[in-house]
Amino acid sequence: MSTTNPPAATVPAGTPEQFEHERLMSLINSMVDGVVAVNERAKVDIYNGAALNILDLNSSMQGKSLGDVCKLLDGNNQPIDIVELVYATKTAFVSRDYSLSYVDGSKVSLYLSIAPVHLGYGKAGTQSYVIVLRDISHEKSLEEERDEFISVVSHELRTPITIAEGNISNAQYIVNKAGGDEQIKKALEDAHQQTLFLADMINDLSTLSRAEHGKLTVDIESINIHDLLTELAHMYSPEAEAKGLTIHTSLSPDLELLMSGKLYVKEILQNFITNAIKYTNDGHISLGAKPADKGVSIWIEDTGIGISKSDQEKIYDKFFRSENFETRKTSGTGLGLYVTMKLSRLLHAQIVTHSQLGIGSKFTIFIPDLQ
Ligand code: ADP
Repeated sequence: MSTTNPPAATVPAGTPEQFEHERLMSLINSMVDGVVAVNERAKVDIYNGAALNILDLNSSMQGKSLGDVCKLLDGNNQPIDIVELVYATKTAFVSRDYSLSYVDGSKVSLYLSIAPVHLGYGKAGTQSYVIVLRDISHEKSLEEERDEFISVVSHELRTPITIAEGNISNAQYIVNKAGGDEQIKKALEDAHQQTLFLADMINDLSTLSRAEHGKLTVDIESINIHDLLTELAHMYSPEAEAKGLTIHTSLSPDLELLMSGKLYVKEILQNFITNAIKYTNDGHISLGAKPADKGVSIWIEDTGIGISKSDQEKIYDKFFRSENFETRKTSGTGLGLYVTMKLSRLLHAQIVTHSQLGIGSKFTIFIPDLQ
């Protein structure tokens, strides 16, 4: 790779402008990230030595078209025109999904940031863009190894956990039938709860690793939302009743068949329903659905502990769990809603969260018809 420094500025020598320009150049040349500023025609104005390095150039880029010096590939290794990307950027844009391809066919994973900058005042000013480039191949390969590890481990754990869960459940049945010892019953109940928790966690981890790998595909089929919600209400009623909660349904008679990914719709709803049960100590849970513009609107409402305003912004983050005492009393991984959001994006669905501490939460999800 080249280590050439950018050429001296074409600014009149000895002037305050030259002094300012040199200060700016030494500032951006001290940066380890590649920095390229282009004008409104996407021609290179300013760049630093790190940019020459990462773009593998050994001659000046001054005045060259950005598209000629920076060949981008998208996540599927398809060429992407960086100039189109630049022009489409209205506010700052950051991505870790592109790579840079070199003439010899090699490539590096890229951190890419594009920021539009308006130089000068009002309409007289000119539009420029600042592009920052960093080679993140090393981090990416570590991330891939980590994802691969999670995917293998969660796959390998699934069978023994299922067998353990089945056996504990059988033992519970036998002990209960024989009117066995209360202590043994309690021990089996606890062991059963923990294996169920492990099974859930493994499920979340495996969905997560498939989602991170971009390996999730949507099989579109027709879904009877009325039947699905009735089935879910039925399925989760025993769990809710064990906590003294009831599940109500409020389903519009106008619901029609919806074309979407049934498995994912079910997983999303299950995540919201299990949370509603987990985070509600008294009261009820309502499941509702009605037709909405070219899709369906479904809601899951509880009378539970609620979520503070500041936490509402974080609950879809990976591994986030509220810090409060009520949440800490329950077990969880903080992955459920993160996976839910990933799956919703695949279905082009939108989630709206309403919640008030001590009153309850309502999650509304709009799922479009994908036909
Ligand atoms: P987990 O339930 O495993 O902790 P989730 O990703 O499903 O993880 O949820 C993230 C966090 O959001 C939870 O830890 C909890 O603090 C909060 N949360 C989610 N659903 C509810 C709800 N219905 N009521 C109150 N808090 C909730």
